[in-house]
Amino acid sequence: MELKPLGATGIGVPEIGLGTWRYSGGAEPLRTSVALGAWLIDTAEMYGTEDAVGRAIQGMRQQVFLATKVSPSHFRYADVLRAADQSLRRLGTDYIDLYQLHWRSSTVLIAETMGAMEELVDAGKVRFIGVSNFSVADLQELERLPARHRVVSNQVRYHLDDRRIEGELLPYCQKHNITVIACSPLAQGIAHLQRRDSDGALGRVAFITGMTEAQVALSWCVRRPGVIAIPKANSVEHVQENCDASGIRLSNQLVLQLEQAFPRHIWRHRASVS
Ligand code: NAP
Repeated sequence: MELKPLGATGIGVPEIGLGTWRYSGGAEPLRTSVALGAWLIDTAEMYGTEDAVGRAIQGMRQQVFLATKVSPSHFRYADVLRAADQSLRRLGTDYIDLYQLHWRSSTVLIAETMGAMEELVDAGKVRFIGVSNFSVADLQELERLPARHRVVSNQVRYHLDDRRIEGELLPYCQKHNITVIACSPLAQGIAHLQRRDSDGALGRVAFITGMTEAQVALSWCVRRPGVIAIPKANSVEHVQENCDASGIRLSNQLVLQLEQAFPRHIWRHRASVS
């Protein structure tokens, strides 16, 4: 498994991890993921999967990089601290590696929320602070805050059929050492990508490279510096397949074929934030 730097932290994280929104695979796919090097596990208080993750990683906490999220309904100072404690309890651990703001709150000032996040880092309950679904303007606002602990990652949707971040957000994150964690890298199901791929490019590239279509989609996703992906997979087979996509780099010509089939300017669907 290839590692990529996490922001400016000096530590590396796997370029392919495991997402757990709507995860129902039990302990085995999670434990296999860790064993195969995809030891970044992403969850959130709102997913209802923190308990399952906690149970699965019992006895192997030190081998896992745990990422979870606090919901905007808990962005007031005291609520953040309480939500973190509840996540810690469900996860069965005493520290969270990456604690992320799930999306921007329209009601609570970001300075108040970040103050609580920093307190959690100072208390040793959180190692790194991340955000999710933040725009360039949101990140710039964060930059202007006096901070003891900088945001190291931004989790945003990125897959072949949704390339909007390539315009401004991805270059901004790369320039400012903020790792992009690509969520829904398989567009919530490979069938979605197949439906959009009128040219058959995904299947063609899979045939040429000997990869599966899911592996092509993941390999495309993590080809850029500063981008890692967290596909969700309920089965050991899918976890294995996704891990095997790490380290394979598509040629420029194949990337071009894919990107012509899924042009950047077209945004065809709106998936819910999750
Ligand atoms: P996704 O990872 O793009 O797609 C998941 C779907 O792909 C599942 O149906 C899964 O099937 C299937 N799949 C996985 N590996 C496969 C393979 N090798 N071959 C064929 N199909 C495969 O969807 P997602 O769950 O939306 O996104 C991934 C993670 O990103 C989430 O779990 C969550 O952690 C995070 N996320 C975050 C946000 C946010 O707002 N921050 C939003 C969306 C997602 P099986 O389950 O049957 O294996």
